[in-house]
Amino acid sequence: KMCAFQPPPAKYGGRHTVTLIPGDGIGPELLNHVKELFRFSCVPVDFEVVNVSSATEDDINNAITAIRRNGVALKGNIETLHTLPASHKSRNNLLRTSLDLYANVMHCKSLPGVQTRHNNIDIMIIRENTEGEYSSLEHESVSGVVECLKIITRTNSLRIAEYAFKLAREKGRKRVTAVHKANIMKLGDGLFLQCCREVAAGYPDIAFDAMIVDNTTMQLVSKPQQFDVMVMPNLYGNVVSNVCAGLVGGPGLVPGANYGRDYAVFETATRNTGKSIADRNIANPTAMLLASCMMLDHLKLHDYATMIRNAVLTTMNETRLHTADIGGQGTTSEVVQAIMRNIQSKGPLTSEL
Ligand code: ADP
Ligand code: MG
Repeated sequence: KMCAFQPPPAKYGGRHTVTLIPGDGIGPELLNHVKELFRFSCVPVDFEVVNVSSATEDDINNAITAIRRNGVALKGNIETLHTLPASHKSRNNLLRTSLDLYANVMHCKSLPGVQTRHNNIDIMIIRENTEGEYSSLEHESVSGVVECLKIITRTNSLRIAEYAFKLAREKGRKRVTAVHKANIMKLGDGLFLQCCREVAAGYPDIAFDAMIVDNTTMQLVSKPQQFDVMVMPNLYGNVVSNVCAGLVGGPGLVPGANYGRDYAVFETATRNTGKSIADRNIANPTAMLLASCMMLDHLKLHDYATMIRNAVLTTMNETRLHTADIGGQGTTSEVVQAIMRNIQSKGPLTSEL
């Protein structure tokens, strides 16, 4: 029942087609760099670009159809104005729920070359991605009283817990921590926690513990090295993943993935639009480039993924290339050019070409 994550088969000639959703803000420029880098590295991936604006419902439906066809997508964030009426659902959220991308996965690891308060962080965050506080079920029952429903189901809690433990085992991890607030939300988070416990029983090789979300955020900023794999409902996942991204250097560095049984969508882990820094050639391209590497791994193009990832990480060691978000003066295109030089210096990929 759990997904084996079979990538969609390559087309004739061994090439894959991937849906590319540029999104808003820094999305389009970062994805142009991905395209440029893939072309430069002879990656056998063709992109089908689908532009989505917030204006009409058609765009997002076209994007969803394209992902159903291709199986895999790489995307920038689509802006959701909170001044819009409640009937206007976040396009990003709509995409994730329509495709049942139930597992959001982020691997937060200290990067060599990036100065941060804490070192040796290596945390995997598994976030339930389809329900909880993101169910978009809100109404004003009487004037001045709003009910905003948080939905926790046994089925979805079991499958995200199962996903977390399975991934932990696959990656040789030692411990899974469930993050919750079951002391207050006794039924909702209580059910989530209970499901995690049940799944944990089937994984005697992996330790399981639980931590209340407020304590978790405090522990994270004081001693983040104590965490291994973390699993949690949707909103806590959003908050905790932003804390963790901050710990290793910020939103420009960490990639993220959304997996379901049938589809996978890759983006930056903290899903920022970055409107204020758009079109200025100053955004950090690392998170999106690493997201593209996660995508290549998903397509089982491991050699290409490793080649590009290594070049990105090597480039991070050059402080003079750091972009402003991590304290430098480098530009986006300078970073990408350095990555391409690094790839070129290693010569062509002989095993796959
Ligand atoms: P949201 O989309 O949630 O509103 P923002 O776009 O405001 O988030 O991003 C939060 C902060 O992170 C902003 O200060 C933004 O400039 C910064 N940021 C996000 N992505 C990057 C990036 N790739 N490089 C540099 N800074 C970034
Ligand atoms: Mg913002």
